[in-house]
Amino acid sequence: MNDNATPKTQSPLSGLNLTILAPAEGEAAPVAAAPVANGSGHPVAARVVIVGSGPAGLTAAIYAARANLEPIVIGGVVGGGQLMITSEVENYPGFPEGVQGPELMGLFRKQAERFGARIVDADVDRVDLSGRPFRLWAAGIEYRAEAVIVATGAEAIWLGLESETRLRGRGVSACATCDGFFFRDKTIAVVGGGDSALEEALFLTRFASKVHLIHRRDAFRGSKIMQARAAAHPKIELHLNRTVEEVLGDEHVEGLRLGRTDESGEETLPLDGLFVAIGHRPNVAAFRDWLTTDEKGYLRTDGATTASNIDGVFVAGDVDDHRYRQAVTAAGEGCRAAIDAERWLEAQEAHEAPRAAAGAATAQ
Ligand code: NAP
Repeated sequence: MNDNATPKTQSPLSGLNLTILAPAEGEAAPVAAAPVANGSGHPVAARVVIVGSGPAGLTAAIYAARANLEPIVIGGVVGGGQLMITSEVENYPGFPEGVQGPELMGLFRKQAERFGARIVDADVDRVDLSGRPFRLWAAGIEYRAEAVIVATGAEAIWLGLESETRLRGRGVSACATCDGFFFRDKTIAVVGGGDSALEEALFLTRFASKVHLIHRRDAFRGSKIMQARAAAHPKIELHLNRTVEEVLGDEHVEGLRLGRTDESGEETLPLDGLFVAIGHRPNVAAFRDWLTTDEKGYLRTDGATTASNIDGVFVAGDVDDHRYRQAVTAAGEGCRAAIDAERWLEAQEAHEAPRAAAGAATAQ
């Protein structure tokens, strides 16, 4: 989906003017640095490395670049985050007529690059956050950073049907807040049995004329109060012990083929849209061994700021937010993380400069 993604045959660093670190005398070149597209074989140094290029990562990049921190964004092979698979975005402030998700992310990127952020279209494979400089590896290149901002986002979990993938953005969505408005006076379905599904079904009654709530078990796992509200809502019809076997329609959603889990048989439900609400998965793989997660697997911050459990590593966006999950809240967190990183670096440098000067004086 990402038109800007660098083709895999091209160096992710081509065209970038990067600071290449030569190993200090006596220090071996890092083992993991090959294959190295820039040909030097040495790590690439930055004051701040931002991982992720959704609204959080690119907003952090804009702020960090404007603070002269010369950030490198390791943005992912398919960058841009969730908005790259969203069509119309109508709730991002500043776009009264709405904007296409990929277009919005293109604008974020352009703005970050305008201030000097360097964006690498590669995935971070692993990191070593045991000390400064922090070390990150992506596409065989090692990056060393004084501060890191993790903005890797979260992904909606999908049912995994071919028809669901084909009709994404054509009536299939995983975000009621983003897309509910497009289903005014339409018949739609929500699939899932947790609080997200119940909440989305209730939210969607504001727009839709009818909401079918489909769950594979005979009882919901969401909170009792939400279950009671959904059951009592005149626009919501519950379909328990049902699975979505196929999303019907060629160009757009026209219905669902449902299977049963309590007995044999199938049924067809004609409708205009399907909201998949079966959970989200935060993208924490490279950081799991280093950063603290909550009971749902999302990265933890100290609450008051974007600081993680490791000094100098900051967290922003959906990778630590399972509550709001909006482009605008992620962007806000990206801004906070860049400001936190800037202040942290300033404090470190203020602390380290006198020590370095004292060390130099002793050496003389
Ligand atoms: P969840 O609690 O993990 O529920 C996921 C639901 O999707 C489950 O009912 C599960 O079925 C179903 N499911 C999973 N895979 C499926 C598949 N392949 N096909 C069909 N159904 C499938 O996720 P969530 O609802 O997103 O909630 C995540 C967390 O956030 C929860 O702790 C929730 O309480 C919290 N949350 C809170 C609020 C709120 O307080 N307002 C709102 C939203 C979410 P099974 O039941 O069979 O496993």
